[in-house]
Amino acid sequence: MPIPTAPYDRVAARLAERLPEARIVTDPLRLMTWGTDASLYRLIPKIVVVIESEDEVGYLLEVCRAAGVPLTFRAAGTSLSGQAISDSVLAVLGDSWNWAKVEDGGERFRVRPGMIGAECNRRLLPYGRKIGPDPASIDSCKIGGIVNNNSSGMCCGVAQNTYHTMDALRFMLADGTILDTGDQTSRAVFRQSHSALLNEVDAMAREVKADEAFAARIRHKFRIKCTTGYSINAFVDYEDPIDILAHLIVGSEGTLGFVSEVVFRTVPEHGHKATAFMVFPDIVVASQAVMALESQPVAAVELFDRASMRSVEDKPGVPALVRGLPDEAAALLVETRAETPDELAANVTRVEASLAGIAMLGPLSFTTDATEAAKLWNVRKGLIPSAGGTRPNGTSMIIEDVCFPMEKLAPAVRDLRALLDSTGYTDATIFGHALAGNLHFLLAQDFDKPSEVERFDRFMKGLAELVVGRYDGSLKAEHGTGRNVAPFVEAEWGERATTLMRRIKKTIEPEGMLNPGVLISDDKEAHIHNLKLMPIASPIIDKCIECGFCERMCPSKGMTLSPRQRIVGWREISRREAAGEETEEWRALYDYQGIDTCAACGLCATVCPVSIDTGLLTRSLRGKRRGMVARRFGEWSARHYDSVSVAMRGAYRIANLARTLLGAASVESLSKTARRMAGNWIPIALASLPNAARPAPKHPAGGGERVIYIPACTSRTMGPPDGAADERTLPEVVESLFAKAGFAPVRPAGLANLCCGLPFDSKGLADVAATKAAEMANAVLAAGPGLTVVMDASPCTARLRDALAGRATVLDLPEFLHDRALPRLDIAKSDVPVLVHMACSLKRMGGETKMRALAEACSNRVTVPVGVNCCGFAGDKGMFRPELNEHALRHLCDDAPAGGVGVSSSRSCEIGLSRHGERTFQSIAYLLDGQAAPKR
Ligand SMILES: Cc1cc2nc3c(=O)[nH]c(=O)nc-3n(C[C@H](O)[C@H](O)[C@H](O)COP(=O)(O)OP(=O)(O)OC[C@H]3O[C@@H](n4cnc5c(N)ncnc54)[C@H](O)[C@@H]3O)c2cc1C
Ligand code: SF4
Ligand code: SF4
Repeated sequence: MPIPTAPYDRVAARLAERLPEARIVTDPLRLMTWGTDASLYRLIPKIVVVIESEDEVGYLLEVCRAAGVPLTFRAAGTSLSGQAISDSVLAVLGDSWNWAKVEDGGERFRVRPGMIGAECNRRLLPYGRKIGPDPASIDSCKIGGIVNNNSSGMCCGVAQNTYHTMDALRFMLADGTILDTGDQTSRAVFRQSHSALLNEVDAMAREVKADEAFAARIRHKFRIKCTTGYSINAFVDYEDPIDILAHLIVGSEGTLGFVSEVVFRTVPEHGHKATAFMVFPDIVVASQAVMALESQPVAAVELFDRASMRSVEDKPGVPALVRGLPDEAAALLVETRAETPDELAANVTRVEASLAGIAMLGPLSFTTDATEAAKLWNVRKGLIPSAGGTRPNGTSMIIEDVCFPMEKLAPAVRDLRALLDSTGYTDATIFGHALAGNLHFLLAQDFDKPSEVERFDRFMKGLAELVVGRYDGSLKAEHGTGRNVAPFVEAEWGERATTLMRRIKKTIEPEGMLNPGVLISDDKEAHIHNLKLMPIASPIIDKCIECGFCERMCPSKGMTLSPRQRIVGWREISRREAAGEETEEWRALYDYQGIDTCAACGLCATVCPVSIDTGLLTRSLRGKRRGMVARRFGEWSARHYDSVSVAMRGAYRIANLARTLLGAASVESLSKTARRMAGNWIPIALASLPNAARPAPKHPAGGGERVIYIPACTSRTMGPPDGAADERTLPEVVESLFAKAGFAPVRPAGLANLCCGLPFDSKGLADVAATKAAEMANAVLAAGPGLTVVMDASPCTARLRDALAGRATVLDLPEFLHDRALPRLDIAKSDVPVLVHMACSLKRMGGETKMRALAEACSNRVTVPVGVNCCGFAGDKGMFRPELNEHALRHLCDDAPAGGVGVSSSRSCEIGLSRHGERTFQSIAYLLDGQAAPKR
């Protein structure tokens, strides 16, 4: 491990005394890539450490204090104001913080800071409840960030943010003391041990309450959303200094302590919803509508200015009328929710009545159709992607977040637009949570010229003058102060409140060790320091906004790099190359962390707001890295694919023989030794490797509905794993199911030489892969024009589907079995526990529901693991980089009962799944065939 410079060498050395080396990051590539959150700022940490327990946090605090170095905590790193980065020690939440417990029949939710917000709501759904805070980033951001930013969103307003829905908080102060406000003993002990601190908090509260004008000012400011500065409303809302302290921690952006657990009072999640998109002649009329809606039973009222509508008007689902609207038009997306259909209908009637007499362009019409509503919400969700996707390459996308008193919304939007135009941000879009007066706007900004930095500075100062000076609003409504508005806290709050905020910091965290420069700063130009550059690197990734939404999907996150980090790293290497700086060490690090440990699964693209598939970058870099000899071998293999398949079967046979003679563990160990001696090009003979497949069975004679069936190369070469109860090959099982369900399979001619091209594509030989895919597509079309095509390995189905797009219907095996075979079969349902792995390609094709339904048709005890995405085996990568597979599947069995069977839809994934899944994994076709009979 490279040792960083003093005093960080001491920190790293002391951390290594207690923590495993893998959790202490000091190499330049990963440090650089941890230096980014979703904001416009970058700071490169000296050490990144993954923390897993309160004990470790206590130790880390002690080590940092002894070395005199600052410490910043980080959850998902989706913050937009620069509060989740550090140039010192960055402590990242590890897996163990992903814990929660539903209490009081769903009325309360106890959760630790590593759980993603949407996962909390998934666990609460059966109780008809959810957590109050609802940031748009809820699918990615974690409780640690939600609490410490006091995040909110479209429905929660002020009333349902963490501050207002928190029942208890457990946190650690910088001196290592833990206070659990829900535990009377902890409160009593803390009162004794920290009486001086509590007295000072109490004194501040008394002073605030005694100054009526000031107390009224605080109440007034927090009527609307406000995350500028500390939550000083705690002084007017609470009496007990412990409760005041806990509420000051909310929204403190990691500057006062470490939050290790929170208990939320949950809010209802109504099952019935109606949505309407309403268009108005201008923002003034739209604002009248917002005022009318304020007293109505509406859950969300989202505002769009004309520029924001224009940015999405060509997207699917956007009402056609939007395209022809005049420049002044504005729109509202309104949702009302209820517990019953009758209540919902009454809500709609009330809302419609409240808007009678307000001029609209187009009809006022609510829909209760979930698909239609989803389309409308996609209009809203499409705003960030479209702005991100159309901004010039090399620019950052800045998402600002202000709040105006709702009654001043119309003039405020007009003035904001004028400010944006006058500072050259004519393309900026304005939208937001109108009911809360909370507006967001998106800017594209390049920071590589001093004049551009100066323009942004001018804009920020103009914004402060407009929001605070003219409208008495908040400069940060929900995204947190961070570095972005730290210099403007005094402008917004005035001297009295700012002095109070400094006193809060001094009282609770006197050493100033936690997240310095955030929320309160002496740097009057913090908003224009440490700005992030977005060097042009590759058309595949240039649109990335570094939001981090992709990270949760990635099998290598937490082991090497996440997709966002791969992009940040590649941007830096590209910048270095362009600037003539050293890249050798960086490239060497990137080879393993960026390229070799990316499974190229493409799951990152499924959640990316600008649809970036970082796997494509990996593949293109693999292609460039590949030497001429390897390329020639790839081309030869493609031409002689039948011989390669024979050789593969031979290799599996030899490995199987060796396992029989020497034992599976010894063979694996021998192959590892050979690898150590000869190099990483030698695969590991994993104990879970399959036997060779028997030659493909002859088609059973007999009639039935004809379908083209393509056994993938893996099904043609790999037999069942050692010790499998059912020793048939997958094609034998599939054909048995076809026979039972009355289908007559047809195979394309020359199957032995056909391949969808995936093995070549994943090794960076895109052209060879495309040729193989085209060959297979032609063979399929020749085999039976118009016939449905079924393929038995999800990754290969996905490729063949692309190759035959618009020319043939290609069904993945689980989809075919669910849609076409299941209705023709009788199933003897069992109680055998079934653990289902959803292959990434199956997920990308949207096959999860059908896969689950198939498993549930066979068993009453089905588990689909949460938090397992790609298995990381990635074709043959599991034999070369088994650590990726192990890391990706570390939570596979967390929620599964012991024993039973594992099912999947990709033969190669099943090798790694069987290795780490405590049971044998086979295609779901085995499970179904074992319990299916022809329908009587
Ligand atoms: C496209 C996009 C849309 C967004 N939409 C919204 C929105 O609608 N509403 C909204 O409010 N925000 C929004 N955000 C901002 C951000 O996602 C939220 O503020 C989110 O709650 C941050 O959570 P996180 O897990 O990413 O926290 P991080 O960014 O990792 O951390 C946030 C802060 O919390 C501190 N912290 C984290 N964990 C702890 C801990 N255990 N103890 C002490 N301090 C800790 C960090 O030091 C940091 O200061 C959006 C972001 C993006 C990129
Ligand atoms: S790849 Fe997409 S999801 Fe990931 S950080 Fe970039 S923009 Fe965000
Ligand atoms: S392709 Fe898969 S492994 Fe690679 S960065 Fe994306 S999610 Fe991670």
